Amino acid sequence: MEQPKTLQEAIRHYSDEQICIDTVARLRWPNGPECPACGHKEHYYLATQKRWKCKECYKQFTVKLGTIFEDSPIKLDKWLTALWMLVNCKNGVSSYEVAKAIGITQKSAWFVLHRLRFALQTGSIVKLGGGGAPVEVDETFVGGKARNMHKSRRLRMKVREHNWSKTVVMGMLERGGQVKTAVIPERRKVIVDKIVRENILPGAEVHTDEFVGYQGLSDEFTHKVINHLEHYVDGKVHTQGIENFWSLLKRGLSGTYVAVEPFHLFRYVDEQAFRYNHRKDEAGNKLDDGQRFELALSQIAGKRLTFAEVTGKVGESAF
Ligand SMILES: [Zn+2]
Repeated sequence: MEQPKTLQEAIRHYSDEQICIDTVARLRWPNGPECPACGHKEHYYLATQKRWKCKECYKQFTVKLGTIFEDSPIKLDKWLTALWMLVNCKNGVSSYEVAKAIGITQKSAWFVLHRLRFALQTGSIVKLGGGGAPVEVDETFVGGKARNMHKSRRLRMKVREHNWSKTVVMGMLERGGQVKTAVIPERRKVIVDKIVRENILPGAEVHTDEFVGYQGLSDEFTHKVINHLEHYVDGKVHTQGIENFWSLLKRGLSGTYVAVEPFHLFRYVDEQAFRYNHRKDEAGNKLDDGQRFELALSQIAGKRLTFAEVTGKVGESAF
């Protein structure tokens, strides 16, 4: 059967449970199934139960075991369709849309999306700037106006200063390459300075605006500051790449996510970063929806998240 290219084709394609199992197995174990208990590679396949049995330790395992799908009553076909929507809908997708498309409750869809988002967090340990291109660094404020919020929500958010209703997102973009983001508690030197050093290779050329938080980077980096008053005297020193990323992010947030609390914001930011970082392959060819989906799926095996981790609340059940 041919690889799906559109959402409609994906829904039809992944409605077959065996196709879902084969797809996840192929991406999870590129060299063939491995026993999650002992790592052994020889096994029997119990076709009727859709399980493997390890020849070494005799334990049985499914393709879901040890993945974020493991303890969920939601079937793989629905997980995969939700993932397809998540990584391919440009402006993001809401739990309402997913619930409608795959026939589950909105609460379940919300949980499914949050698990998938968590699993997609880039968390890459590779620093930016290795390619020799300049790295643009900038911050932006995301969030609604305090007066439009219910009082209990305002209290819950507990944010300070005059920007107290907004959350600060920091972004670092290697020109022509990848973006990394971080949701930070405050726009302060001690925080932004640390994040730059954690994420960018020493020696790289770093472009920022005149914010005092970035003063002090020149000990480790070639730090170039944009002077907005002089209208980019040096045309190569700018932060337009990261500013474009902010527009994408804000379009998604305002169009799709009506009210994102600061606690959850980093997941939405990561989701947008994932789409941005996977718009092309290493050779610069545009990825199609099916390729982006497979890439995402290959990345999420082995990651798990409990409901408490998703919500920050302990003692509630998922469904
Ligand atoms: Zn085993």
